[in-house]
Amino acid sequence: MRRITELIIHCTATPPGWRNGQSTAAKVAEVKRWHIDPKPNGRGWSDIGYHYLIDRDGTVETGRPLDRDGAHAAGHNKGTIGISLFGGKSSSASDQFADNYTRAQDKALRKLIVGLQKQHPISKISGHNEYAAKACPGFNVGRWLVNKPPRSVAASTTLQATGASATAVVGAGATAIGGLDGTAQIIAVVFAGIALLGLLWVARERVKKFARGIR
Ligand SMILES: [Zn+2]
Repeated sequence: MRRITELIIHCTATPPGWRNGQSTAAKVAEVKRWHIDPKPNGRGWSDIGYHYLIDRDGTVETGRPLDRDGAHAAGHNKGTIGISLFGGKSSSASDQFADNYTRAQDKALRKLIVGLQKQHPISKISGHNEYAAKACPGFNVGRWLVNKPPRSVAASTTLQATGASATAVVGAGATAIGGLDGTAQIIAVVFAGIALLGLLWVARERVKKFARGIR
């Protein structure tokens, strides 16, 4: 495997509804055709230029094998991975991510980045527009990376529900223990304590995940 230290984000410059209803694989095959068809119709390359492509519904497809340099950013194909988002036609470099892409793409791209960071010594994540006078990918990658989208209502509801169920369990437990005799009470209290610790641990894990923005 070649040494990979940077991820470069791109777009396919297709309209939002491009080939709607077709599989991601079919869309990737079409982009590949643009790249491998001989000039002047295509680029005349040996394979699709990108290593990953992300569809509007968040589906991630692989393109060129990772162990080969891509063809996506002139002068920056060595040591990089090219990731392309479907969409971005008529976008501008100053647009927000959400102006051109879906929430599912946002989630999928962040997840892909985290996964690749675990496998490669990635020290930089950039947009094509940082290396060429182009809009691609149609947003500022550095700003997008630090500005996560607002957390969903569903995530905070889950967290509240965890707290509410813990309170309910403790309340019910206390009532039940009150009805038992001496020895049984001690045993019940010990077991209730263990159960409570378990519940607190689950809650702590959820809070940690929530803080990291995992939904
Ligand atoms: Zn590009």
